[in-house]
Amino acid sequence: MTLAVGYAYPGTKLEIPADWAPAHPNISALSESRADYPVCGHDSHYPEYRHVVLISTGGGIGSILDASNGAALTALYEAWELADREADDAPAWGPRESSPLAIHHGFYDHATVCADPLRVAPSVLALIIDAAERYAEYPLLDESDYSARELEEFTQCFADESFRVHPSLDESHPLYADALRVATENYLGYSDAGYISRQHVIASWVDAADSGADSPRCAACGDVADYCAGHGEIGDPSGHELLAALYGDEDDQ
Ligand SMILES: [Zn+2]
Ligand SMILES: [Zn+2]
Repeated sequence: MTLAVGYAYPGTKLEIPADWAPAHPNISALSESRADYPVCGHDSHYPEYRHVVLISTGGGIGSILDASNGAALTALYEAWELADREADDAPAWGPRESSPLAIHHGFYDHATVCADPLRVAPSVLALIIDAAERYAEYPLLDESDYSARELEEFTQCFADESFRVHPSLDESHPLYADALRVATENYLGYSDAGYISRQHVIASWVDAADSGADSPRCAACGDVADYCAGHGEIGDPSGHELLAALYGDEDDQ
C-alpha cells in the first residue's frame, strides 16, 4: 500500500512527530492495508488536519455502476460517520469539534470518503479499510442495489425500444408482461447494462406470442391465434403494420 499523507498540499509527506505517530494504531492499520490511500486534494479541509482518501467511487462515464457505487458509498459514509460519533475508542489526542470523516461528491456520481487518520476512531477506520480492500478487489459495493438499477434501466429500454418497433407495443398491450419477462430472462446480464437491441425486443415479442399461456397468441390483438379474425391492410392498418414490424412484410398472419 501507499500512504501519502500530507498537511495542506497533496503529495507532500505527512510529518509525523517521531514520539507519537509511529505508534498510532490508525497509521499502522493504513500502512498494513492492501489498498492505497492518497492525499485528499479538496481544499475544504482545515489545513491543519491531514486527510487521506480512504475510498473513492464513480467519476467514470456516469454508468449504472457509478450511480450504484456512489449511492452505496454515500450510505456507508453516513453509517461510518454515525459510528465514529458514537465510538468509545475515539482518539483522545485529536480535537473532536468536527468530524474526522468527510465525503465529497463530484461529476458522474463521483464520491470520495476521506478522513483525518489521526482523529478517526480505530474501530471505524477498520470498517472503512475493510470496505476499501474489498472494493479494490471487486469494484461493486452493493450487488443488490446494482441489480435493481440494472433491471429498472433494462425495463425502461425495453419499453422505449418496443414503442419504436410499433407504438401500440406499450404497457396496455395484452402480451406486454410476457414479452418483458422473455426479454428479461433471456437478455438481462447479456446486454450492456440498460441496453437491449431492437432485434432482441422483436424476438421477445414474437416468443411471447408464439408461446402464449395455453396456445399461440396473435401479437397484434393478444387473442388466441386461431380465434383472431386477422389484421388486414385495409381493415386494420395499425395491426397489420405491427405484425409486419414483428414478423416481416411477407408474413400475412
Ligand atoms: Zn477530503
Ligand atoms: Zn389478432
